[in-house]
Amino acid sequence: MSSPYKRVLLKLSGEVLMGSQQFGIDPDFVAELAKEVKAAKETGLEICLVIGGGNIFRGMAGAARGMDRAQADYMGMLATVMNALAMQNALEQIGVETRVQSAVQMDQVCEPVIRRRAERHLEKGRVVIFAAGVGAPYFTTDSGAALRAAEMRCDALLKGTSVDGVYDSDPKRNPDAKRYDSVDYDTVLADNLQVMDASAVALCRDNSIPIVVFSIREQGNLATVLAGGGTKTIVQKGA
Ligand code: UDP
Repeated sequence: MSSPYKRVLLKLSGEVLMGSQQFGIDPDFVAELAKEVKAAKETGLEICLVIGGGNIFRGMAGAARGMDRAQADYMGMLATVMNALAMQNALEQIGVETRVQSAVQMDQVCEPVIRRRAERHLEKGRVVIFAAGVGAPYFTTDSGAALRAAEMRCDALLKGTSVDGVYDSDPKRNPDAKRYDSVDYDTVLADNLQVMDASAVALCRDNSIPIVVFSIREQGNLATVLAGGGTKTIVQKGA
């Protein structure tokens, strides 16, 4: 099966990097994820990656404990850089060339975000990992993913999570919850369906970028979804 996409942005929430741990980075699981990305890349796709930071620190959690929100958000952004470096390490260990570009400049460890340079990396077959979200507090890496998907003109934003799509209610609580095969951006926003935060969904809608929600925990699923198969929900116009 050939992929309906040429260039994609893959967003992984930080929690995925924990594997079965409660916190932090599980190097074995990151290595597994890297293999998935490599398999996807070998089909000829250009891949941008955005990784969250929730496995280490979330600004909202800090704020809830009395921290200044903006300060806590900057800590969250730094957490995403750690995850990006962990993923870079895992990918390069299996021979996939990568570059990390961070929206918070950190010259010793990675490049700043420079769209034209990122473009060149992709042309050369490198995976570009975008870290630190949009580089501003009060945002999330979902918004970062939507922004990079738009500016890199990706054909789709793939959101790899622990569930296999978007449901009309929480499938963990409601056994009758229904999974959508396809759903409109406006339904997601109006019904407050848990896909990505509203600003990210709106940015994808306004730039006609389909959001593909699928489970990254199943081995081989990323390549299957990229080939147009597998269990997933596609958020798109007119669904
Ligand atoms: N963050 C931010 N601005 C951004 C991206 C991230 O302030 O553009 C901070 C925010 O505190 C967030 C944390 O970084 O809670 C980790 O990102 P996120 O919650 O999106 O990670 P995920 O839920 O995907 O693991």
